[in-house]
Amino acid sequence: MTAILRPFQNPLPSGVTRLSKLAFALALLLAAITLVSASCGGDGEGSSDSDPEPTFTTAGVSPEPTGEPELTGFAFPIDDACLPGGDNLMPGAPRTYRMGTHEGIDFYDSDNCTPIGEDTEVFAAKAGTIVRADWDYEPLTYAELAEIDARIAGQNACDEESLDRFRGRQVWVDHGNGVITRYAHLGRIADDIEVGLSVRQGELIAYVGNSGTPESLDDPNAEMHLHMELRVGDGYLGKGLSASEVRALYEKAFARH
Ligand SMILES: [Zn+2]
Repeated sequence: MTAILRPFQNPLPSGVTRLSKLAFALALLLAAITLVSASCGGDGEGSSDSDPEPTFTTAGVSPEPTGEPELTGFAFPIDDACLPGGDNLMPGAPRTYRMGTHEGIDFYDSDNCTPIGEDTEVFAAKAGTIVRADWDYEPLTYAELAEIDARIAGQNACDEESLDRFRGRQVWVDHGNGVITRYAHLGRIADDIEVGLSVRQGELIAYVGNSGTPESLDDPNAEMHLHMELRVGDGYLGKGLSASEVRALYEKAFARH
């Protein structure tokens, strides 16, 4: 586990006033409230009232819905891949060490029907428009990891910025009507893939890597996998559903006809 826990230094100076004790108590209360309201990746119903606008769709592409989201007809982003056998690699799996929920599918060498490793090709799951391509990605550093872990340990598990850093180098494809696929932990982005570009289903967009994983700091070969998210509106497909319901939805999404 990567959480950095520092001993509590210098709790309160001996000459502390009643007023600053009160301030301290208030700060604790605020932290507790933050903790309660932090339902990162959980059911999070009604949380959209205060959600900030999505900050990472940097393109001028406006995903203005013109119809119902289309949640079928996707292809696996890796040739000959299948859904992972284990539910812990599927959306909705708990990620207790980050007080959250796994929001995507993990494609690892061991559990996805085909060899997967560094530089395995990643393809667009469906036709769409590139709305994010991290050409200027900066690798995670130990200092940053410590900072993020401390932030999360400080009950800020829903901090979108931290979660985004853990997804590493990414490409996002907008398929219209609020449906976006995200491809994360990428090692490289394919030539010519840039924001605003239209891609076909099955078009090469990137290559598998391990960017953004804490393990990559210690071992450059660790954790080579693709994390792919199928986003619908504010959440991921299957948010709040049981593991079997989630699996059924994704089987349908990737069904071949
Ligand atoms: Zn993942």
